Amino acid sequence: NYAEIDAAYFNSYTHVGVHEEMIKDRVRTETYRNAIFQHANFIKDKVVVDVGCGTGILSIFCAYAGARKVYAVDASEIAIQAREVVKANGLSETIIVLLGRIEEVEIGEEVDVIISEWMGYMLLYESMLSSVIYARDRWLKPGGIILPSHATLYLAPVTNAERYAESIDFWRNVYGIDMSAMLPLAKQCSFEEPCVESITAENIMSWPVQVYTTSTIGEDIATSHHQRRSSLKHIDCSSITVQELESVTSNFSVTSMMTGALHGFALWFDVTFSGPTSSSSDTQSESSLESSLSGGLCANGMFHKSKRAKMVNQLVLSTAPEDIPTHWQQTVLYIYDPIEVKQDEQISGSITVSQSKENPRFLNIHLEYKCRGRCYVKETVMR
Ligand code: SAH
Repeated sequence: NYAEIDAAYFNSYTHVGVHEEMIKDRVRTETYRNAIFQHANFIKDKVVVDVGCGTGILSIFCAYAGARKVYAVDASEIAIQAREVVKANGLSETIIVLLGRIEEVEIGEEVDVIISEWMGYMLLYESMLSSVIYARDRWLKPGGIILPSHATLYLAPVTNAERYAESIDFWRNVYGIDMSAMLPLAKQCSFEEPCVESITAENIMSWPVQVYTTSTIGEDIATSHHQRRSSLKHIDCSSITVQELESVTSNFSVTSMMTGALHGFALWFDVTFSGPTSSSSDTQSESSLESSLSGGLCANGMFHKSKRAKMVNQLVLSTAPEDIPTHWQQTVLYIYDPIEVKQDEQISGSITVSQSKENPRFLNIHLEYKCRGRCYVKETVMR
């Protein structure tokens, strides 16, 4: 059964449209390209493995950065095209394209660099990170690097009256007919499952919390802006284990920055590319810069990550609502009935994201939230 699931998954990557969408996502592709070139000192004359090479684009960037050898691996038949692309660009000597699962192919040597674009919707959908972990544990030399190196998943309450009106309130008056009888069905069909869609910073009701960080598994998440800054930690791709990815629970407690209706919770992520260039002195200056910027709000009230990234000279691929949109958009867990919230009121709860037993590439999401003294539960599956 799992073999069939995998076959369908890899088959989905044989279609040109998926690759076109990813490559045309300039935030994604250019951040990867910049990261590769920024690490050229480390990549030059080294051995790289590209986990899930698709059309081969990241492998080719690595070859341009001076890699001695690149193993470009993909279990989807798109690898056949990748091989042709590599050949047509005169890179067949450097880039070895292997058609097969990373868990099954033979790479006859240890590698210095792992590059992979493994992120799915709300970061963990598709569960491809475990394949990167597999490659790391099997082939990465001690001191080798993984790009991206860190990942963080964020959560924040959202208000989205327009979206709610369009899908739900619409049924209250249809050509003058009261179709409220449709409301329960409309809520279920529109909002039972997570929605991948674009929201803006105006929809965000509070400072985001970090859901997924290696250090906060099972712990309380920082509640305030200050704590959030001071506990800035991420999934560290060099140490995270497959077991840690199976199920993650995070508690959260935030304060609404506005008076308005709570319509749900948004999730998004960022990944950073920090290789061996970020020495401890860089980390030092980064943290002092972090604190000097900690009061820095944009007009819309959100802390601008790309600005921070620029100032600390660390590349960030952000899918946050206040940043340039990407094909990942954001993932919104809508609630069926909006809750009126006043400014400075607390919204707390917990979220558990776990791999589905039915299909390990799906995610089970268990969300509990407490608002104005009442507790609610939302249970859903991202399929
Ligand atoms: N690196 C390319 C494609 C990224 S999409 C780019 O940046 O444009 C992710 C790719 O990883 C898909 O083509 C998928 O088939 C492949 N993939 C996912 N899991 C894999 C695994 N376990 N082994 C080999 N390839 C895998």
